[in-house]
Amino acid sequence: MQHTIKPIGFLHSCFKEKFAIPRQPQLAPAARGVLELVPPFDRAEAIEGLEQVSHVWLLFLFHRALEDKPRLKVRPPRLGGNATMGVFATRATHRPNGIGQSVVKLERVEPGRLWLSGIDLLDDTPVLDIKPYVPYADQVPDAFNHIADAPPPQVKLEWQDTALQQARSHALRLGEPLVELIEQCLAQDPRPAYQVPEPGRRYGVLLWDVQVRWHYPEPGRIRVLEVVAA
Ligand code: SAM
Repeated sequence: MQHTIKPIGFLHSCFKEKFAIPRQPQLAPAARGVLELVPPFDRAEAIEGLEQVSHVWLLFLFHRALEDKPRLKVRPPRLGGNATMGVFATRATHRPNGIGQSVVKLERVEPGRLWLSGIDLLDDTPVLDIKPYVPYADQVPDAFNHIADAPPPQVKLEWQDTALQQARSHALRLGEPLVELIEQCLAQDPRPAYQVPEPGRRYGVLLWDVQVRWHYPEPGRIRVLEVVAA
C-alpha cells in the first residue's frame, strides 16, 4: 500500500537560514517559534489535553536538505567535516526520507497554534506529527553515545557596546529574548570546524528579521559587532 504523508503544520521559526542553528534542540532555550497547524488539525479537538504536557516530539521534514539519491555515509560536522560515518549512526539532515525529530518545550497552546522553545528547526519547516514527550519512557538514564557524548564545546562571546544596545532594542520591538538567542547560538560556534577563522573575516546570520554580525578576534573567541534590521 502506498501512503502519502502530508504536513500537519508549518513552523514559524527564529531561524531564517541553516547557518547558526544549534545542532540539536534544547541547546538554545531562547530559540522560539510558533507551529501553525493546518486544517483539519487547527481545530480545538486536535490539541485537547496537550496543555498537560511540558515537551513534545516534533517529527518533521528537512525540506531544505532533500535529495533523490540516498546516502549511506555522511560527514557529521562534529567530526570536523572530513570523517564519514554510516547515515544511521548520525542525526545528519541528509538521510533517507528526510525525516527529523526534536524534543522541544511547549510554552503555550491554543487551537491551531503551538508556541515552542528550544527549537533547532528552520523557518517554514513542514511538521509531520506531534507527540507528547513521555518522561518515564523517553528518558534512558543509562544510555550512551560515544560519537556524541556531550554538547558541543562553547566559545567565549563578548559584545561590542553598540551591538548589545542594538540587540536589546530589537528584543523589545520583537518581544523576543534576542540577546540570549544570539549568545546561546553563537557560543556554539556556527563556523565549520575545519575552517580556521581569520580575525578580519566577518560572519553573519539572520535571526528573526535582524542581521547579526560577528568576528573572531582569535580562535575560540567571538565578538558580536552589530545587530541591525535586515
Ligand atoms: N534534532 C533533529 C534530528 O535529530 O533529527 C535535527 C538535527 S540536525 C543535525 C540540526 C540541523 O538541521 C540544524 O543545525 C539545521 O541546520 C538543520 N535544519 C533544521 N531544519 C531544517 C530543515 N527544515 N531543512 C534542512 N535543514 C534543517
